[in-house]
Amino acid sequence: MTATPVIARTREELAQALDSLEGSRALVMTMGALHAGHLQLVRRAHALADHVVVSIFVNPTQFAPGEDFEAYPRTLEADVAALSEVGADVVFAPEPSEVYPVEPRISIDPGPIARVLEGATRPTHLGGVALIVTKVFGLVRPDVAFFGQKDAQQLAMVRTLVRDLDLPVRIEGVPIVRDADGVALSSRNRYLSEAERVHARALSRGLNAGVSVAEGGRPASQILAAARGVLEVEDGVDVDYVALVDPLTFDEINDVTAPGTPAVLVMAARVGSTRLIDNQPLTIGGVAAGLQAECVHEADGRPADGTEAAR
Ligand code: AMP
Repeated sequence: MTATPVIARTREELAQALDSLEGSRALVMTMGALHAGHLQLVRRAHALADHVVVSIFVNPTQFAPGEDFEAYPRTLEADVAALSEVGADVVFAPEPSEVYPVEPRISIDPGPIARVLEGATRPTHLGGVALIVTKVFGLVRPDVAFFGQKDAQQLAMVRTLVRDLDLPVRIEGVPIVRDADGVALSSRNRYLSEAERVHARALSRGLNAGVSVAEGGRPASQILAAARGVLEVEDGVDVDYVALVDPLTFDEINDVTAPGTPAVLVMAARVGSTRLIDNQPLTIGGVAAGLQAECVHEADGRPADGTEAAR
């Protein structure tokens, strides 16, 4: 499946490209620097819709001053080449001035979910995501949009946004794509040195430890202690949070939570100067889950061993 997608740099070019598509339309929103995780979203989209639109946009409103907005990798040519292999029809890759021709006067408060965990560390982040998601939904008008479980809090926020604002789109979550060593694929993994990359494996090991304890029927506090313990003994890993939360509200789950309740074990840690997040859905009370390890190898047989090899 090799077909170069139409590249739309402006709203007008996007509108023209959309006019030529008949049938159902899926959207995959990305910030580019694509890896096998992003490509898995596109494959899923391709399987469920007639056409796939991929947006590539490093959205300034979801970065706070001092975060890596300027440094964020921008690799459009390689991204388009990768997308040609997986069946994207249109790539919408606008400049910030095209998306925000005027400073928006409307802001979106995604509510309590935007103030905990990722929101506590990055207070303006999920509001910025809600704004860009709503805008791109308006520009693309997809029937279905795909988001990765990798950003579990973002996925939960988007589901709630769509539900609460009655946005006419279906949301599909896609499991985390990991490297063979367990590290969740991320565009930011390229910031890791070789030694840091080894330390980064502690995150998935911590999730595995938490899942094992959950499978043993143990309560939330013991699941958390097991996961946190793995991170804390690893040199070079500075834990930001480890938490067990409701998959939709991100309210914390505790020891009185009923067995059988679905939860997500979420974590964030700094490895060197790179902030990594990871998570694993599980069930409180011992239903076997197993660490998500979707697509450790790309569908075409190449190993999905990080951002570079995934191109
Ligand atoms: P980003 O470019 O980081 O904004 O990510 C774009 C989309 O790809 C988001 O929905 C992410 O959750 C998803 N994504 C990023 N990394 C992965 C991964 N390793 N597995 C699955 N989805 C991912």
